[in-house]
Amino acid sequence: MLQLKFDPKAVKKPIISLATIETSTLLNIIRASVGPREGELVVEVEDGKAERVADILRSYGVDVHSMEEAVEKDEERCVHCGLCISICPVEAIGFSKERKVVIDTSRCIHCGSCVTVCPTKALKLP
Ligand code: SF4
Ligand code: SF4
Repeated sequence: MLQLKFDPKAVKKPIISLATIETSTLLNIIRASVGPREGELVVEVEDGKAERVADILRSYGVDVHSMEEAVEKDEERCVHCGLCISICPVEAIGFSKERKVVIDTSRCIHCGSCVTVCPTKALKLP
């Protein structure tokens, strides 16, 4: 999983298509926020290709970071309302036997949906 941040120059280039063609790698866009002046994407890359894809993207002026860590929960802020459970597209969040909200970080795809809906700002992506 790679996080890509880019400036107005890179926004004008078809960076995902270029990286796909130049590395013969399919990129799966997990999260996207792109405007005329800046952009941020999270893309899933097939095993063993992330470094090559990152190098190509950096050559187009993209700021690239590897995202190995999943969403994090601040236990002191969480009120276990369950709102994040319903929004998670991969069922990475659920209730424990004790009715506490728990996250299976191995399933998290970094979409950011739970971070957006949490009323107490208990969740964050690294
Ligand atoms: S939405 Fe926030 S407060 Fe509610 S259960 Fe999820 S992490 Fe906790
Ligand atoms: S970031 Fe997305 S995939 Fe990960 S736990 Fe939150 S809603 Fe689920």
